[in-house]
Amino acid sequence: MNIESAPHTKLATQQALRLRRLYLAFGSYGFTLLLTLSCWHLGFFAWPVVVAYLALMIPINLAFYIAIRSGFNLRFADPSLTFAQLLASILPVFYVMFHAGPARGAFLLLAVSAYLYGLFQFRTRQFMAMTLLALSGYAAMIALLAVYQPTQVELRVEMLMGVAFAVTLLQISILGGYIGKLRRKLNTKNSELEARNQELEVALQTIRDMAIRDELTGVFNRRHLRDVLRLESMRTDRHGGAMSLCMLDIDFFRNVNDDYGHLAGDLVLKRVAEIAQAELRQTDVLCRYGGEEFAILLPQTPLAGARITAERIRLAVERSRYYAVDTELRVTVSLGVAEYIRHEDPDRMFQRADDALYRAKESGRNRTMAAGLMVAV
Ligand code: GH3
Ligand code: MG
Ligand code: MG
Repeated sequence: MNIESAPHTKLATQQALRLRRLYLAFGSYGFTLLLTLSCWHLGFFAWPVVVAYLALMIPINLAFYIAIRSGFNLRFADPSLTFAQLLASILPVFYVMFHAGPARGAFLLLAVSAYLYGLFQFRTRQFMAMTLLALSGYAAMIALLAVYQPTQVELRVEMLMGVAFAVTLLQISILGGYIGKLRRKLNTKNSELEARNQELEVALQTIRDMAIRDELTGVFNRRHLRDVLRLESMRTDRHGGAMSLCMLDIDFFRNVNDDYGHLAGDLVLKRVAEIAQAELRQTDVLCRYGGEEFAILLPQTPLAGARITAERIRLAVERSRYYAVDTELRVTVSLGVAEYIRHEDPDRMFQRADDALYRAKESGRNRTMAAGLMVAV
């Protein structure tokens, strides 16, 4: 997963989750419908009540579905639209209850179950608001009944039911608020863990880099060169092809240190490493071999190619200027190149490249020498 797509994927996952919860809510509407149909069948009310219930329920559900599908829900502080969904699920129930006569109690239970959906999102405060709304809705319905169909209400029973309803909702509110708090705590912990993991990942990468890179110049260290060399020599032994090694040593480097100080020397070392790196392919492995000496492994490169590369580096170093040290400072390097002979000990290749470097020094420095195929003894 790349970094750009991550937030998008997260959003898509959240929207999918919201849709799934909406389907669950559809299910609970289905139960209410079933109960409504049963009431009609048992003669508690006539069919227009069922039709009116459907006329309320279908557009409401469709509206939520379209809102989530189109992303319209994202404009709200709570994109899950929990509060609106709860309200929308409880109000039609009150409508049916109004007509249900003595069967009202059954719908009250459904109102409680709709309430449970708040567990996903609500804080105690929101639960309380919802409780207040639900109780007011219930009280209003009873009041309307008392006024318009006084024969349909037994106020003592309704009071009792109302109190039980209130107590149940209050308990769910308190529990729900508690669960919500736990969930938020868990979410925070998760984000913290994620952040920690990322920090660790970065630290691990740093450690990996430290294990294979030279601190001063940032190029690879000797250990890494040795590992790559082992692999490359095996590959060459098995599949053929060429591989070369180039040893590079800065000429009269001691003078740089002596004339300008150790810090200036370090600067020059870094610059030479940069110059060499810039002249190499990505597959070449540049390593700081020791003090002011570098080794370069050139996979898939025969001697002629290694020589060209070495010369390119040599000329680039010769052209380089060190304004931060002294505009007059000139630095040159000597190089020795050797091509790997199949099945030879890689140390021997090192030896031959080193001998060539020695000859480059001997014959005047600032030059490249190529090794013969025999090891000098
Ligand atoms: P030659 O042309 O024969 O290579 O001469 P040279 O002076 O470069 O050779 P020599 O090997 O005698 O000197 C190498 C110097 O490199 C000595 C040492 O102080 C210096 N050196 C080695 N490592 C570092 C380093 O990390 N920083 C600095 N500033 N100098 C270093
Ligand atoms: Mg030197
Ligand atoms: Mg040296």
